[in-house]
Amino acid sequence: MKPPTHVRIGPYRYRVELADLGDMADPEDEREDNGFGEYAPEVETIRLNKNQRPDSLADTLLHEVLHAVLGYTGAQEMLKTFNDSAEEFVVSALTGELLNVLRRNPSLVSFLTSKG
Ligand SMILES: [Zn+2]
Repeated sequence: MKPPTHVRIGPYRYRVELADLGDMADPEDEREDNGFGEYAPEVETIRLNKNQRPDSLADTLLHEVLHAVLGYTGAQEMLKTFNDSAEEFVVSALTGELLNVLRRNPSLVSFLTSKG
């Protein structure tokens, strides 16, 4: 399944792009998120490395969405007061487990996304 082309976060409508971001998870890679994805708030864009598996794409998209949520809510600035890696730690800790809970509990997803 392809990722959505846009994601609404707060008042923003982020474009979601599949892009060739090169190799991923190289231990020497100093790019944020090791080349799996990028969150670019200045252009309201989330880029996903098209070279990853579909299940990894979902994880990366949720990861970048969480970065965007922290940025929009101001939590990103608060986390920077701890240290430069606090945001990455929080986002990484939440992403996999949150995705796992959502995948294992479709009735929870239905309840959370229902409008009444
Ligand atoms: Zn990240």
